[in-house]
Amino acid sequence: MNFSVTPSHLLQYLYCPRFIYFEYVLRIPQYQERHFKVQKGRLVHEEKARQNMEYLRRRIGVVKKELNLYLTNDLLRGEVDEVLWLEDGSIAPLDYKYAKYEDKIYSTYKTQLYCYAWLIRSNFGVEVTRGYLVYTRSRNRLVEVPVDEKSVTAVEKAARSIGEIITQNKYPKATKNKKRCVTCTYRNICIK
Ligand code: SF4
Repeated sequence: MNFSVTPSHLLQYLYCPRFIYFEYVLRIPQYQERHFKVQKGRLVHEEKARQNMEYLRRRIGVVKKELNLYLTNDLLRGEVDEVLWLEDGSIAPLDYKYAKYEDKIYSTYKTQLYCYAWLIRSNFGVEVTRGYLVYTRSRNRLVEVPVDEKSVTAVEKAARSIGEIITQNKYPKATKNKKRCVTCTYRNICIK
C-alpha cells in the first residue's frame, strides 16, 4: 500500500468510515475537519508546560526521553510529543493536550495514544503497556492510560481498512450512529 495513514485519518474513520471515501477517494472536502485534527498543544503554552515536566517524568521513572519524534511504519505515520523510556524497560508515548481534565478520557485521545503505541512497538520492538496525557489547562495534570493489545490491534485493523478504501476505491459501511448523519456535510450524497 502506498498510502500512509495518520492519527487524524483514524479519528475520521472511527467517526464514520465514509468520511474517508468522500474526502480521499471522491476528493470532496468536509468542513468538520476540526473535530479530527490531532490537537497539538498551543505552542507557547506547550513550551511552558514542558519546562515544568521534569519532576513528573521523574515521578513515573523516565530514564530517557525523545521529544517530537516522527515515527513511521508500513501503514502509519505520526509525530509523538514525547517518547519515554521507563525504568521498568518499557517505552511509553506522552501526548500534551491543550485542554482541561474533565474526569474522563475522550476516546479520540486514547486512539491517538494507541497509534503512537503501535508506532513505538514497530520502531523499537518493545511492547507498550501504557501511555500518558498531560492536560496543560489543568496545571499539567498527568494521566496514565493503559494500552492493551486489543486496542492497538483495533487501530491496526482500522488503518488497513482506510488503506483499502483509498487504494481500492472501496465504498465503506456507514456509521451505526445515525445521529451523526443529521449535521453531516455529506448527508445529501451519502447513499444509505
Ligand atoms: S451521512 Fe452519515 S453515513 Fe453518510 S458520511 Fe455522513 S455520517 Fe457517514
